[in-house]
Amino acid sequence: MKKLGILGGTFDPIHTGHINSAQAVYEQLGLEKVLFIPAYIPPHKMDQEFAHAADRYNMTVLATEPYTYFDVSDIELKRSGVSYTIDTMLEMKKLYPDYELYFIIGADSVPLLHTWDRIYDLFDLVTFAAAYRPGYSNVIETACEQLGNIAREKIILLDTPEYAVSSTEIRKCVREGASLEGLVPQAVEEYIRKNQLYLAAE
Ligand code: ATP
Repeated sequence: MKKLGILGGTFDPIHTGHINSAQAVYEQLGLEKVLFIPAYIPPHKMDQEFAHAADRYNMTVLATEPYTYFDVSDIELKRSGVSYTIDTMLEMKKLYPDYELYFIIGADSVPLLHTWDRIYDLFDLVTFAAAYRPGYSNVIETACEQLGNIAREKIILLDTPEYAVSSTEIRKCVREGASLEGLVPQAVEEYIRKNQLYLAAE
């Protein structure tokens, strides 16, 4: 069966950690392609402010354009409201009936999976592929304590390289006028500057 990778995120902004992790997971799991899905309102960040969904989407398109096997979906933007992954994956199952679905997350997200809406329904639809993040090597054990042994079956911790970059750090660099070189693709940096994103204090 063909394998589809899905990387959901706020992408505020998308950065080289997202791109390089997706690339590493793509190679390690032999994925057919990876679909990046920007959230409209991410359930875990409802109390925060974000760049407009259209800007986050545009930056995701710019960052993934050079890769033939990366694609962007506006499914959560079109649905609007709070973007629950389970709702999106139910749609994906219909759109990609012949694929095994791998939902890519950073290992830092694994200990939070038990808080995700309808997580056991999600386990029926996808396997979680967790990209390595420093300090998060025992997350499968933690997830088993939180969710039971199904976690061992449904979450794979991959041995991908470490990419020490986060959207939070990038927004801070922009506010402080620091260079974004190596942190985001050049086209994304140009988009941020041109549209004067991330200049206001958080
Ligand atoms: P923020 O710093 O604003 O919290 P973020 O950099 O974690 O944002 P998100 O868009 O919220 O970015 O992340 C989407 C997914 O990508 C999450 O599962 C997260 O764990 C993962 N991720 C983010 N940065 C990295 C990275 N450097 N390496 C591996 N995975 C990452």
